[in-house]
Amino acid sequence: MGDEADDEAAMMWQNVLDEVASGRPRNLHCPYCEKEVAVITDEQTRRTRITCKDCKRFIEVKLAEVWTPPTSTTIGGNPSNPSNKDKGK
Ligand SMILES: [Zn+2]
Repeated sequence: MGDEADDEAAMMWQNVLDEVASGRPRNLHCPYCEKEVAVITDEQTRRTRITCKDCKRFIEVKLAEVWTPPTSTTIGGNPSNPSNKDKGK
């Protein structure tokens, strides 16, 4: 799937993608020039674009391909408590 250039780019960006997938999209650096990158996630399309601020190279991934977000943000407590779920909206 995809052409060779895409595969190569994906390999280059793999470490950065891993960090983003781990929920740490900060202090990331371009695999080409080592400069800082910007991580922008489009919540509507669920795509994340990682752009180098210097050489302008970028990679765009669909979030679900690298990271499966938790279906519930409830940590501890009672996960089946409905009053908890509605808070914060
Ligand atoms: Zn760069």
